[in-house]
Amino acid sequence: MEVEHIKADVLCVGGGIGGLMAAIRSSELGAKTVVAEKGNTSHSGKGGGGCDHYLCYIPDIHGPDMDAFIEEMLQTQQRHNFEGLGMKRMRVHIARTFDIVKMWDRWGIPMKYNGEYHYAGHAFPGGFRCLLKYAGRWQKPVLTQKALEKGVQIVNRVMIFDLVSDGEKVVGAIGIDTRDEKLVVFEAKSVILGTGGMSRLYPSPTPGWFNNIATRLSLTGDGRAMAYRAGAALQNVEMRQQHAGPKYYARFGQATWIGVFRDAQDKPIGPFVTKPERLYGDITPEVNKNIFLEYAQKGRGPVFMDGRGMSKEDLDYMMHWLPHEGNTPLIDHMKENGIDYLKHPIEFMTYDHGSGGRIRTNERGETTLAGLYAIGDELANGVSNATVFGWISGEQATDFAKQAGTPDRKVIDEMVNDKKALVETIRGHINGPAWKEVNVALQQIMSDYAGPQRTEALLDMGLFHLRRIRQKALDGMIAGNPHELGRALEVLNMIDIGELVFISSMERKETRGLHIRPDYPLTNPRLNKKVLVIEKVDRKPVTKWC
Ligand SMILES: Cc1cc2nc3c(=O)[nH]c(=O)nc-3n(C[C@H](O)[C@H](O)[C@H](O)COP(=O)(O)OP(=O)(O)OC[C@H]3O[C@@H](n4cnc5c(N)ncnc54)[C@H](O)[C@@H]3O)c2cc1C
Repeated sequence: MEVEHIKADVLCVGGGIGGLMAAIRSSELGAKTVVAEKGNTSHSGKGGGGCDHYLCYIPDIHGPDMDAFIEEMLQTQQRHNFEGLGMKRMRVHIARTFDIVKMWDRWGIPMKYNGEYHYAGHAFPGGFRCLLKYAGRWQKPVLTQKALEKGVQIVNRVMIFDLVSDGEKVVGAIGIDTRDEKLVVFEAKSVILGTGGMSRLYPSPTPGWFNNIATRLSLTGDGRAMAYRAGAALQNVEMRQQHAGPKYYARFGQATWIGVFRDAQDKPIGPFVTKPERLYGDITPEVNKNIFLEYAQKGRGPVFMDGRGMSKEDLDYMMHWLPHEGNTPLIDHMKENGIDYLKHPIEFMTYDHGSGGRIRTNERGETTLAGLYAIGDELANGVSNATVFGWISGEQATDFAKQAGTPDRKVIDEMVNDKKALVETIRGHINGPAWKEVNVALQQIMSDYAGPQRTEALLDMGLFHLRRIRQKALDGMIAGNPHELGRALEVLNMIDIGELVFISSMERKETRGLHIRPDYPLTNPRLNKKVLVIEKVDRKPVTKWC
């Protein structure tokens, strides 16, 4: 197998919103910066289809008390995003949001509506509106162009599947070209992981239709799996996340809809609005994402997003934003099927949207492994988080690279030999399960044994099955071409994270949020301010409370 070598001061793994922001900043500070992207930076990642809300504090609009803004924001779904990250980081984040907004607007991502900063959605009537509306449909091409202008080298269609560490710090990363039979080896003085979230560990709402997920098929927690294997700590990987969207059509954008969530008897399911409110939406699912599932389980469903009674002007406003929120296919579907939102309520559902864990970092984006930074959805969901910490990590990683010595080539070569053997073994398998089969089996194990109910006995059994599946995959999983090889490596990463979910779930002997332990039904208040950390010690996963 051919091996290509690329050298960088700063390597950004993942060219999503966070990775591109980090790369732009480090390159303008003088570092030789390379972005390695599994897809294509102009449309890859969660930000690739567009976004329409940016969490942003503007003192002239919200008043001088930033903590009051934070308090209000934490009553919305943002609290799930920031859980366990601490107030220090939150303040750093919020304080920098407006600077990024002004910069993006200058770069050509429209951050104003009708010439003004405009806030709507994700809000309680009468409360602060914390999320700025912006037209993010084409944000990725703009960021890609900006990165190129700043001299960043973008390497598309390369999936990084392991980091190289010399035992003390990270010194590079190894990837495969997903189109050509080639290993791509990066020598780097510092590495930023902007690999996004994790979406294929649990089944989609329509298991037969694998790709029916609100995020992206290719977001498979690679960053956290690699970080863990290289020696960095993760936290709260056992916590699950949910989202809500149109039934059987998993999409983000619940807060872009204007309307009232009503049951089959036309009764609002929440106390917040009784008629469509353009500026607030209906925030009920942000208070309880599980509400649609609870209605279904109690035989009280279906529940609809109901826009009846809204004005044509409000409808046009909503239809203006939905494509910015990655919902173009949904609008096409409505048009093709004659669904008129002024007349036809849309049924909604709760669905899983992956593992809520994150790579452990401080407010500078540093992981517990020297030279390794993590940003964006590897920490917390949201564009503002990805941009602010992308920017900060770009600065920190550049500083680190300036004082780091040249990476030890011997360490890199040893790792390359190991990884080459792994990919050649997978490519050499002739009969065996394809990646999809392994992925489906993994999803079944996760949802049956580490899903809605988790007991010691279930977790123990699930871990046994998961390890069995891993061995079978290593022994026989086939990959007919470089693209399938990438998918197979993704599945191996997800198996690693699945294992950590089982081990951490066993350690969290309490019920909290969606981590339901019938054998430990209490929520332990002593753990309210703690996070469960998991890291590799002597080649084994070890947990501790911090
Ligand atoms: C439809 C939709 C609408 C949204 N709307 C909003 C909104 O309005 N407001 C908001 O705040 N948030 C929104 N979000 C969430 C927001 O898009 C994400 O939080 C944000 O994009 C995270 O940025 P990121 O850089 O961390 O990850 P991503 O943008 O997902 O980028 C990760 C990148 O890493 C690449 N990658 C992954 N693994 C590897 C690997 N092994 N090797 C190389 N490359 C790799 C991926 O291909 C991808 O390009 C929305 C998400 C979706 C899906």
